[in-house]
Amino acid sequence: MSSLPLPPVTLPLLPVVPPAVAMRWSALILAAVTLGCHAQDRTTEAGEASITDAKAECAPYDYPPLDAQRTAFPPPSKAADILPNDTTAQSRWQSIVSSVPNIPPKPAPGSSGSGGFKYPPGDPDCWWTGTQCVTPKLSGLPPDIADVPEPSTMGYGFDDGPSCSHNAFYNYLASKNQKASQSPHVFCTSCRDLVLLAAMFYIGTNVYNWPLEAQRGLADGHEICVHTWSHNYMTSLSSSSAFAELYYSKYQFLILHQSPQMLTPHPQRQMEIIKLVVGVTPTCWRPPYGDVDDRIRAIANGLGLRTILWKYDSFDWKYGSGGTKKAEIDANYQDVINKASNGSFASAGAIMLTHELNDFTMSEAMEYHDKLQAVFKYIVPVGVAYNNTQAYVETNYTLPTFEQYISGTTTIPPGAQAKLASPSGSSSGSGGSTSASASPSPTSAAVVTLPWTHAGKWLLVTFALIVLC
Ligand SMILES: [Zn+2]
Repeated sequence: MSSLPLPPVTLPLLPVVPPAVAMRWSALILAAVTLGCHAQDRTTEAGEASITDAKAECAPYDYPPLDAQRTAFPPPSKAADILPNDTTAQSRWQSIVSSVPNIPPKPAPGSSGSGGFKYPPGDPDCWWTGTQCVTPKLSGLPPDIADVPEPSTMGYGFDDGPSCSHNAFYNYLASKNQKASQSPHVFCTSCRDLVLLAAMFYIGTNVYNWPLEAQRGLADGHEICVHTWSHNYMTSLSSSSAFAELYYSKYQFLILHQSPQMLTPHPQRQMEIIKLVVGVTPTCWRPPYGDVDDRIRAIANGLGLRTILWKYDSFDWKYGSGGTKKAEIDANYQDVINKASNGSFASAGAIMLTHELNDFTMSEAMEYHDKLQAVFKYIVPVGVAYNNTQAYVETNYTLPTFEQYISGTTTIPPGAQAKLASPSGSSSGSGGSTSASASPSPTSAAVVTLPWTHAGKWLLVTFALIVLC
């Protein structure tokens, strides 16, 4: 096949432009286009959810509705305590303090005093860390949730979010819902995007730092639970501090989900926050490290929070620390898969500890979702497995019953479908493949046969970016 000379009309464009000039033009166009590409809307949940570049997603942003209220919360990343001027929190604490047993705080692992700490062998406090006790010894407290009653079912959930780089993961979850034949379906009368798949245990400080990411969890229809303010060992804290860890996390959501139809005052919170925005108030929580005893349970119970634990740990959180390798995490996932395959969950389902902590833990979750779905009959948010349709204090949020969920009751609105129609599931954006995709194709053959100058490359990349944008 001989190469035919190209029609002269297609050629003059590049050669007549001096390379230096072409590169300058291209640089200018490229800068403008790049700026245009990254001019993301970072003021709304939908805008933030549309970011596909993890680095861009993790750049800090302002969120005025929360910025105006930041002093109403404890400083981020430190163990919380009741703020001195917060009379609402103080009176709430006073209303439950008499129901909190007089159990002294336990030393956190690695802290001074932890070495000589001796816990009585009879497990008087039902301390999960010590004995994995889930049935409180203090009367009046409900048992913890550590598995799910439905056979062959996984109670799905992720700790430590919202992660600033979770869009690819959440897109993936949403796409799985769309495609799976017996996919989870949604029955939520006020969520904008009705995609429901997992219980998300959010850390208050992360919500404080990434409010739009937290809103996405709600908007996608995930079940939102509390994972404390600062992720400390709860049994090591004073009772008022443990109260604050839950109180400020729980009520944080009130100002994070803006929904005009929900602007009704909440009886447990003063108007200074309610008048701004009202959202959902979770009714479930998970103690970091599983560190809970009857003192902490009593505080959580006083705040209307049910304790959720687990029986299987993926140990995904351990990856990279102490030389922990991916193979170890894989083996933990595989162990649960093997158990499901051999019928271990034939009479009751399982809850496995998995995380939204970082890109590794989220990629593991994506890698193993289909494998889990292949061996479990159903994968459902923990609350759905318990038919907890009233997952929030607010009554205009309703989650499906287990039967509704697995039978396909769905009311996915156009908004959710529009989001899913965007290039979801691509975890790395398109920047890295831009130049590769500009390689020879039938429509660009004339250009490719030109001498491959730097100027030509610049113009091609620029053209590709314009097309992609
Ligand atoms: Zn955690």
